[in-house]
Amino acid sequence: MKSAFWALILMGSGITAFAQRNCATDAYYRTHRSQYAEMPVERDGVEARDTVPNEIIIIPVVVHVLFHNEAQMLSDAQVRSQIDALNRDFRRMNDDAASTPEVFRSRAADTRIMFCLAQVDPAGRPTKGIVRRYTDREYFLGDDGMKFSASGGNDAWDTRKYLNIWVCSMLGRSLGYASFPGGPADKDGVVINYDVFGTIGNLREPFTMGRTATHEVAHWLGLKHIWGDETCGSDDVGDTPRQLSYNYYCPSFPHTTQCSQESSGDMFMNYMDFTNDACMNMFTHGQKKKMRGLFAPGAWRNSFLRSYVCDSSLASGAPIPDDTLVAAKPAGNVKAYPNPVTDFCVLEPDGDYKLEGQILRLYNATGILIRQVVLTSGKYTLPMRGLTPGTYFIKLGEHANKRVIRILKL
Ligand SMILES: [Zn+2]
Repeated sequence: MKSAFWALILMGSGITAFAQRNCATDAYYRTHRSQYAEMPVERDGVEARDTVPNEIIIIPVVVHVLFHNEAQMLSDAQVRSQIDALNRDFRRMNDDAASTPEVFRSRAADTRIMFCLAQVDPAGRPTKGIVRRYTDREYFLGDDGMKFSASGGNDAWDTRKYLNIWVCSMLGRSLGYASFPGGPADKDGVVINYDVFGTIGNLREPFTMGRTATHEVAHWLGLKHIWGDETCGSDDVGDTPRQLSYNYYCPSFPHTTQCSQESSGDMFMNYMDFTNDACMNMFTHGQKKKMRGLFAPGAWRNSFLRSYVCDSSLASGAPIPDDTLVAAKPAGNVKAYPNPVTDFCVLEPDGDYKLEGQILRLYNATGILIRQVVLTSGKYTLPMRGLTPGTYFIKLGEHANKRVIRILKL
């Protein structure tokens, strides 16, 4: 109760960075429960197959990076670092596997589930599985706005073939949330706050090891929180001990309560608790069985066994631009004045050109990037004071929106 109280106080004060894990999946499910179906309907008429023993299940992923400023415009390397982290954690190839307390080690499992960035888009074209979109939304709430182009987000790719991950700002109120299997197809997937995604880039302590996504993707694969979201609740998994509630930060082992059935206490190092990234290091065999059960014929994720979109040889045609921003407006130009410039250069549309949503990049004469900024208004003043005198190039936008302006700094 105490932490919920302080969360409310902090929200009210506008302080939004929490050092405690906060996952909105359970709240999301409780709100949307009526939209969840009991059993999957075979939608494409293709005969289902079962997994073969020990099969490594590979799940194609598309990452929608929704950005409103430079900090949210994650690099490809940062996105790839998250996929690598998922693979390490789900395959129990994580460096900290040795930190699992000895008493729990025999329960720790390699789930034999892996992830790849999609190589083929829904139209059959090549892709790198990363889509970046400028959004005019400063942040999203847990209302699925990020899942629809019409509300400043980006529409899901076929959720029978792709695990959709939306990365955006949620003001840090929750680190992320997932839809459990069985929800509406167009909202199926995982949402992660941009500053806890991946293992490189500007990440928020103590969530720098990509485990927010490990936790949320496991929800997407049907796992509940380890305390069952109730006092001494059950997560419907046999080999995870009952625990009183969630654990924050990193308790010392063993952590026992009145709920503990064994002297080893809580399995707070399980990915489905609320501990810090550096404190988590395992799924159990029971959790593995539950997740893999979703790929059986007639189960929710079975369609992924027939998803071949990670095979780039199956793609054809020209790739879609991955940095597509606001709707292309080839008409119009951009004015930059004064030119030559001393301290500030003002940029303004000349005609129909829209500055809002474009990325401005300033290069020097040798092509070195000096400054990069996402424009969020119709006019922008570029500071140039202190730069070495000489020729500079302002590049705005991409593709049809691209404009290059040469300016002289005195
Ligand atoms: Zn959760």
